[in-house]
Amino acid sequence: MIAQVIVDISNSEVDRVFDYAIDDFPDAKEGFRVMVPFGRMNIEGYIVQLKDRTDCPPEKLKKIASVLDPYPVINEELMQVCRFMVDKYHLRMVDVLRLCLPSQMRTGKVKELTIKIAAVSDEYKDKDTSEFIRPSAVAQMEIYNHLLQSGPLPVTELCKEFSASALRNLISRGIVVAKEEGRMRTPYIGDDDDKQPPYELTEQQSAALKKIQSFSNETILLHGVTGSGKTEVYMRCISDVLKDNKTAMMLVPEISLTPQVLRTFRTRFGRNVAILHSGLSAGERFDEWRRILSGDAKVVVGARSAVFAPVRNLGIIIIDEEHDPSYVSESNPRYFTHEVAQKRARICGCNLILGSATPSIESYYSAKTGKYKLVEMKTRVNAGPLPKIDIVDMCREVYDGNNGLFSRLLNSKLDECMKKGDQAIIFINRRGYSSYMMCRSCGYVAKCVDCDVSLVYHKDENVLKCHYCGNRYKVLDECPVCHSENIKRGFVGTQQVVELLSQRYPDVGILRMDNDTTQTKDAHLDILSKFRQKKAHILVGTQMIVKGHDFPDVTLVGIVDADMSLHFADFRATERTYQLITQVAGRAGRADKPGEVVLQTYSPRHYVYRYIVNGDYAGFYEKEINLREVTKYPPFSRIVRVLVSCENEQLAHDVLKKIFDRLSGDFKGKRDSIAYFAAMKSPVKRISNKYRVQILVRIVRDEENITRQIYEAVDEYTIPKVSVFVEINPNNLS
Ligand code: ADP
Ligand code: ZN
Ligand code: ZN
Repeated sequence: MIAQVIVDISNSEVDRVFDYAIDDFPDAKEGFRVMVPFGRMNIEGYIVQLKDRTDCPPEKLKKIASVLDPYPVINEELMQVCRFMVDKYHLRMVDVLRLCLPSQMRTGKVKELTIKIAAVSDEYKDKDTSEFIRPSAVAQMEIYNHLLQSGPLPVTELCKEFSASALRNLISRGIVVAKEEGRMRTPYIGDDDDKQPPYELTEQQSAALKKIQSFSNETILLHGVTGSGKTEVYMRCISDVLKDNKTAMMLVPEISLTPQVLRTFRTRFGRNVAILHSGLSAGERFDEWRRILSGDAKVVVGARSAVFAPVRNLGIIIIDEEHDPSYVSESNPRYFTHEVAQKRARICGCNLILGSATPSIESYYSAKTGKYKLVEMKTRVNAGPLPKIDIVDMCREVYDGNNGLFSRLLNSKLDECMKKGDQAIIFINRRGYSSYMMCRSCGYVAKCVDCDVSLVYHKDENVLKCHYCGNRYKVLDECPVCHSENIKRGFVGTQQVVELLSQRYPDVGILRMDNDTTQTKDAHLDILSKFRQKKAHILVGTQMIVKGHDFPDVTLVGIVDADMSLHFADFRATERTYQLITQVAGRAGRADKPGEVVLQTYSPRHYVYRYIVNGDYAGFYEKEINLREVTKYPPFSRIVRVLVSCENEQLAHDVLKKIFDRLSGDFKGKRDSIAYFAAMKSPVKRISNKYRVQILVRIVRDEENITRQIYEAVDEYTIPKVSVFVEINPNNLS
């Protein structure tokens, strides 16, 4: 037999399949990890297919050197998913295959953890000890009796209590046997065996569950307001499939994988749950992966990359907070988790549930147009009202002489909240590293005349740029609308806010959560648990505080600068603002205390705020989808970015020009299919010493074919040392 092997060479342009003779290893099949001779070395590779014949002349055909594991590391289903991704996203097979196993496994750095277990040998169990242990050998006698009573014990434990030399003596004479046994490093969170009975479902939850159960092999959008109890519905769906002897996968944004969430799943499903997230050690990750592979763990809970977990026989896949941008992988290999999950679900013939309080416009569109099934939960579990939101016009504050970061209303509500001993969250809306330019007197924001997205201020060149078309504009020194010179750019920093608050409330504990304070591994969990234990009464933070955290004593949420994401230079800016603000606001008043939200904005009349205040997602969607249709943005078009980067600027430009010229030819006569097509410098011109140039295309028709033409052009002109990536509907264009 011949095995087609993909060799695992990092940073190389090699993505070819090589043929090797496999006759020495009759058990090896597709998905096995092997060592193969390559050049003068042996390197790791994956068998992607077996076949009968090869075109390679017999004298040149090399043999597989060894098989690395006694099982295939990539099962047939995952192999299918990999092929799908290679085709869909134009990726190298080796990069995709790597996603499917723990990275440390590839470099051979993690091994199975084994420990030595000692036990009395069977033939010495029923004998009279005087036959083989001298009465003076007290230590040996102690060990013998102890082991006989307790059964097998780890050698390390025995040695803590008893003489190591006596144990060695017993082992050497065969009275005690010591065996290496494999052990799993399971990351336990709390007591996993006290299973919790499920909640009694609310009427709304049972209706949702029933509806979900009526579907098979579908993608279902579960739209449930914050606090409607989606988690319980997910868990019921999971219980269902377990009863059918199937497995389940639930994906959650990394940042929401808190001990709270993990404990909820552990206490319900016990050892059946395997958890995959970045906080695990290499050994733990490897062991969780093996528990999944062996079928020992039947429920996988994890972040984005857990979509590649080696579960078999999936009965359901759930993507919680489906609108979250982290589901788009933005570095190589680039992929969209929903599409990968959907492919797996279709292969297994199971349902895929996308859940959110604020679905992405694209997902909701799919639900509205019948591609997905829509299931809704419109009220909170405790039937409590959604928090009341007050909008504060910050231009008015400036006009009235308040130049501070906090409005008068937020100040007074915060005073009140602190007096009552409740907790407050102050949210600083901040995203990416770009900033916009805005008039503080009238709220005017500089926008691109062609694209209607906010311009981004570039400090290095002191210009404003549009990230969609590359147009450049002069920096404003007065407002073109009201002629005020009170023009602002840049951010409000979390640190600034913390300083301000600690002056006002010297006796109140204040916590800060942002990129700077969460550099270390468990930092963000630390901050959250301190806040939960009421060691502090105010939490100041960025996007990180938004996700699924339940703090019963938070009665006030202050949003300092709601517009920040609104004016982000992105066609999804309004959508993101709706999602962010709704999610943050949802943190207020989760338990029996009602919640209040103060939302500060320089654009109080922007339509997005009206819908947020009314909790009117459907209304917001209608407005937004119309805009998308008129302006030809997704879901009515596909944005493709070809990003070329290279240390040599000229080389990058040359490659870009060749691709661009070829596409210009291809696109002739396709005017109707293409809404936009241009080559330009990337908004961020250099990253880690590589120059970046790009082509942007917006395709309105015949998307698949035109995308394929772009892939072909990229293939034709990619040369060594120049990296070229194609991104579909990327989250950001910097
Ligand atoms: P969502 O994810 O929809 O925002 P959660 O799943 O976090 O909502 O549920 C909100 C709160 O309601 C949680 O504290 C949860 O424990 C509680 N809860 C969920 N279902 C029930 C139920 N059937 N009965 C009582 N409490 C419930
Ligand atoms: Zn103005
Ligand atoms: Zn533009």
